[in-house]
Amino acid sequence: MGTHQVLDGRKIAERIKQTLLKEETAVLRAHPQLRVLYFDTTASQVYWQAQRVAAAALEIGTGVDKSGRESYKTGSVSCPWNIPQPEVERIIQWWNDDPSVHGIFVHQPMPVQIDAQRVSALIDPRKDVEGIHPANCARRFFAKARIGSCTALAVMELIESTGVALEGKEAVVVGHSEIVGRPVSMLLLDKLATTTICHVGTDRAGRLESHVRQADVLVVAVGKPQLIKGSWIKSGAIVIDVGINVVNKRVVGDVEFDEALKRAAYISPVPGGVGPVTVMMVMKNTVEAFKWQRR
Ligand code: NAD
Repeated sequence: MGTHQVLDGRKIAERIKQTLLKEETAVLRAHPQLRVLYFDTTASQVYWQAQRVAAAALEIGTGVDKSGRESYKTGSVSCPWNIPQPEVERIIQWWNDDPSVHGIFVHQPMPVQIDAQRVSALIDPRKDVEGIHPANCARRFFAKARIGSCTALAVMELIESTGVALEGKEAVVVGHSEIVGRPVSMLLLDKLATTTICHVGTDRAGRLESHVRQADVLVVAVGKPQLIKGSWIKSGAIVIDVGINVVNKRVVGDVEFDEALKRAAYISPVPGGVGPVTVMMVMKNTVEAFKWQRR
């Protein structure tokens, strides 16, 4: 019998935090400033809380005082779901123009009235700690990104924690979004994995299962509980589940976890897998953004 190991995202996030504390003392002593625009939805509040805790542990500022008072002129802000586009743009422009702000992060998904691509393009690329500005995406294309997509980097951290070399492996990414599927695929290509991208069209064509069955490395980022059946997992595969779904008040991923665990060599759980590592990658990107602005 081979190994069936659950990848502990909290432990990996802690290791990244300790490395930052050790190797980036000078930057952290200067207290880089991160500004987060989040929304008044439960998912966004939960994510913001995790970001706030991680930032505090590294003494990265978020500009919210102990009373919780918020103003975009001095710190991170919660916005109503019906916030109009010009208001979002005004906040980002303010943070772009403020030299004491080093990192900007706008929560996704954004409300329908907000043009997310326009927002991504407005953020100063040197402050774009989610790695979504077109210039940062283009640098990723050439494998030269200084600030990468935080979720994609988190996926790669989890894969790398297994110690398995990716060259020549069959990697299958399910989901082709701009913030997860596409950037993960590029990072897998950079490691010379033979990379296949599946999406809703693959499923509609009835070909999702056959692709998943080939995967030595499977990354799933869709947002549909139980989409990937445990019986489809190739024996000995690495399975990274990015999906976040709430089912009967429980948070679950996109993969049938218990069944998949019987076949996978390594699998990331939800919660406690990609999520905590992503939060820490935002902090790592904030440190990098600080250095980029200081040269
Ligand atoms: P998205 O909605 O932008 O993209 C979904 C993707 O899934 C698309 O590529 C679509 O083609 C594909 N898809 C839809 N139905 C499918 C089907 N039946 N079969 C195969 N593919 C299908 O989503 P996103 O922003 O990439 O997020 C995906 C999931 O990851 C969500 O659950 C989100 O909450 C989660 N997420 C987690 C983190 C984290 O840090 N843990 C970060 C970002 C997103």
